[in-house]
Amino acid sequence: MAPSSIWTLALLAAAATALPTAETQATCADIKNALPGRLWLPGEAAYTKENRDYYNIGLAELGPACITLPTSAEDVSKIVKILNVRPGVRFAIKSGGHDPNPGQSSVKDGVLVALRHINGTEYDAQKNVAYVKPGGHWSSVIGPLAKKNVTVVSGRLGVVGIGGYLMQGGNSFLSAQHGLAADSILEWELVAANGSIITVNAKRYPDLARALRGGGDQFGICTKFTLQAYPIGPVWSGTKAYAAKDREAVFEALADFVENNHKDPKAAIIFTSGLGSASLMQFYDGPTPPKGAFGKFENLKATMDVGKTQSYADVIGATDGLFNFFSSRTSFRSITLPHLPHDHGYYSRVDALWSNITAKHLKGRYLVGSTLAFQPFPNSMGKATETKGGNAMGLKGSDHTRFVIEIAGIYSRKADDDVVQEMSREYTQVLTEQLQGVKASAKAKGITVGEYNPMFGNDAGPDQDVMGSYRDVATFRKLQKQLDPEGLFAKRAGGFKYPE
Ligand SMILES: Cc1cc2nc3c(=O)[nH]c(=O)nc-3n(C[C@H](O)[C@H](O)[C@H](O)COP(=O)(O)OP(=O)(O)OC[C@H]3O[C@@H](n4cnc5c(N)ncnc54)[C@H](O)[C@@H]3O)c2cc1C
Repeated sequence: MAPSSIWTLALLAAAATALPTAETQATCADIKNALPGRLWLPGEAAYTKENRDYYNIGLAELGPACITLPTSAEDVSKIVKILNVRPGVRFAIKSGGHDPNPGQSSVKDGVLVALRHINGTEYDAQKNVAYVKPGGHWSSVIGPLAKKNVTVVSGRLGVVGIGGYLMQGGNSFLSAQHGLAADSILEWELVAANGSIITVNAKRYPDLARALRGGGDQFGICTKFTLQAYPIGPVWSGTKAYAAKDREAVFEALADFVENNHKDPKAAIIFTSGLGSASLMQFYDGPTPPKGAFGKFENLKATMDVGKTQSYADVIGATDGLFNFFSSRTSFRSITLPHLPHDHGYYSRVDALWSNITAKHLKGRYLVGSTLAFQPFPNSMGKATETKGGNAMGLKGSDHTRFVIEIAGIYSRKADDDVVQEMSREYTQVLTEQLQGVKASAKAKGITVGEYNPMFGNDAGPDQDVMGSYRDVATFRKLQKQLDPEGLFAKRAGGFKYPE
């Protein structure tokens, strides 16, 4: 059968389900004509492969009308120009597909623009920059760069996608030293709302560069990032686990670490509570952490304690194999809270609240797991952000130290989607309300609690107003409207948006 006949049959088959609108189907057909061999419909192998490749396996159920797999910025430009023709058509941009929120890098009955084939990393030793494309995963970037003894500020797990991570900010083991990953973006090759391919850097477009460092997909589709490279040698990484009876001492150690992280920003941790345990992932940018780098954690008895000197690429890639077998529904939600130097018990209370809320919601639901990941945002991060020109989150060196909690749900049944969202939402609501009381009682004692606690987009949940929490939201929204007057990205694509 001729390819065109197969295409006609496939279109008819897609039309038979009658869910995507005629406008959407016409858009799919136009993209197919403009980019032969780069658009796929339900039932075709390339569609099935791409649609199944989400970290949250539940997203495959959404089902786009068609999936286009461009291979260059020019292809993306053609797609954007075609999308402009019919304003009713929804679409989503997918790089790694690690965002677990429905409708961010996934779209029901719309056009999925999947950037898998726009991938690759090159290092320019003279300029000390890496050119990184959005498809692929961090292991594919960090491995090749390690051979040149350099790295970039990257995801902490090699499996994490690149495009969404960088467009939404990006927290890294190197962030206390160098700021968010997005702070180290020197240039963006961006397909703008009118389909033109533009080069954005802080010299040419200072406001846009700042807005892009954490502003998500509202200004365009990035097809290449120019990233500042940093020297890297052997690093140290370890994991510890703690017994429940040591809970209070463990949370005191966490508070102590967050408070003092700025003194040695080469040290980084992720503290995870949940699934019946408390564990600590430690990282040090150097072959051996100096005594005291992990503060009070060093004096606590651990039930498991492993650590070794290794390459940064090995740290990032350590779990790559594990994730090949990971197959689960997942959810994210996040809250940013101020560190309270006068109240180290805050961490323990914040954790206990989650235990209470999950116990209430999950009675009899044994197949739902959940974790809280505590991530320090020391003010050294804001200092690094400021020296690099500022970011959308508005981090500043003069700010207080904060911590971000990523609330993750891991479960298998569609029937549990709602309860996972409900309990996470209740948790962030109660914490937000309680924070008012925390501030009031601190004020009564003459203590000021840091007011500005913007959300961290990479860990946020589907209904969270990430962009509305940014201090310069009004400026960014105005800029967005100038660059995207028809609302192509603001109204028709998935992702976090500035509130009206
Ligand atoms: C196992 C795991 C570990 C993680 N570890 C970290 C971590 O260490 N640090 C951290 O900060 N986050 C981490 N995250 C969160 C992660 O950064 C986000 O899920 C991020 O969105 C992943 O990038 P992606 O390319 O897969 O995004 P996608 O899911 O592909 O896209 C997410 C959003 O970004 C937009 N987008 C994607 N690509 C582009 C592009 N090229 N141009 C414009 N917009 C685009 C999409 O429109 C969408 O709204 C982790 C997530 C998981 C599941």
